[in-house]
Amino acid sequence: MSIYEEVEFEDLDYDPVTQIYTYPCPCGDKFSISLEALWDGEDIATCPSCTLRIEIIYDEEDLPPLRDDDDESGGEEEEEEGEKKKQDEKGEEIDHNIASVLQKSLTVK
Ligand SMILES: [Zn+2]
Repeated sequence: MSIYEEVEFEDLDYDPVTQIYTYPCPCGDKFSISLEALWDGEDIATCPSCTLRIEIIYDEEDLPPLRDDDDESGGEEEEEEGEKKKQDEKGEEIDHNIASVLQKSLTVK
């Protein structure tokens, strides 16, 4: 197998979620190589749709740290709060109207 192209590490597209580097292939697909493979010393990225492959020019100093401890839960926690409050109270409000007090002031002189 021949190398289609030598690609600088900086020119690769990186997906931090999958930790896979990709590079557009002329066939329309993408070369891909995982970060783990790069740490293992592999520098050949292959295309899943054709036989082309690229050689990646990189130094290990350029590689981001490989996350190996990824056992944390995905954070899928569903909290079901079954609080059902039955409100049978009748909210009757009685308005107390204060009757106006008529003061009859008889001024007798
Ligand atoms: Zn291809």
